[in-house]
Amino acid sequence: MPADDKRTLAAAARRYLAREADAGRGDLWTLAAAETPRARAPRFRGPIEEMGVGLEDLETPSVSPPGDTLDQVASEVVACTKCGLASTRTKAVPGAGTGKVGIVFVGEAPGAEEDRRGEPFVGRSGDLLTKMIQAMDEKQVIPGVSLSRDAVFIANVLKCRPPDNRNPLPHEIEACTPYLVRQLALLQPKVIMCLGKFAAELLVGAKGTIGGMRGTVFRYGDAKLLVTYHPAACLRNPNYKRPVWEDLQLLAREYQTP
Ligand code: URA
Ligand code: SF4
Repeated sequence: MPADDKRTLAAAARRYLAREADAGRGDLWTLAAAETPRARAPRFRGPIEEMGVGLEDLETPSVSPPGDTLDQVASEVVACTKCGLASTRTKAVPGAGTGKVGIVFVGEAPGAEEDRRGEPFVGRSGDLLTKMIQAMDEKQVIPGVSLSRDAVFIANVLKCRPPDNRNPLPHEIEACTPYLVRQLALLQPKVIMCLGKFAAELLVGAKGTIGGMRGTVFRYGDAKLLVTYHPAACLRNPNYKRPVWEDLQLLAREYQTP
């Protein structure tokens, strides 16, 4: 297709999305929630160790070191100087929530608002994640299980904000991953939902796109591991909201099956 045609199409698509948003149809968490999910047959994969992927840098202990606690991890994180982000952060962001229902969301890294407050997902992306969790609760996608930010655990791959929200660097991920690994070992979740590429590639243990990985049930230790688009991607492109809602319903189904 000639470049001019592509630009015309893209402009038309943007106008369409803007009209939809103006008409109040931009917020999927009420729209898609009312719809029947497209059935997706989950393809089971074995433990990540069996995927032929080298996980040399990522130990996945199913047992925590004796005496380890979430508070202990958090206090080490706020004092951590293992990578250069220690010198540019305002506050480190260890994670939040009790995880008592056995669900963990893993994002990428704190943004500006998270860095100011020391809390994960409290900016614009965070508002969307909060709405997603509330919509799951309101629609009772897991019957009998109340969902809230406090009932789940919300974490990130990096605990400190990269300057200007640049992508995490490999050595930063390597330095910081042990904290996430310890949190997951302590929480022993039933289901982990990766939000975006960095969490997904780290925990799945393979390179890939969200489009290619979503819909597959991976394993992380004893937990089921799912992948979806990052809320920030949904904010940039509202077309991602529907697949994200489908992925949350897959989470709910997998949560309820052994
Ligand atoms: N984006 C993330 O990945 N994590 C946060 O905590 C906030 C925004
Ligand atoms: Fe430590 Fe992680 Fe912060 Fe780097 S990003 S200073 S490894 S807590």
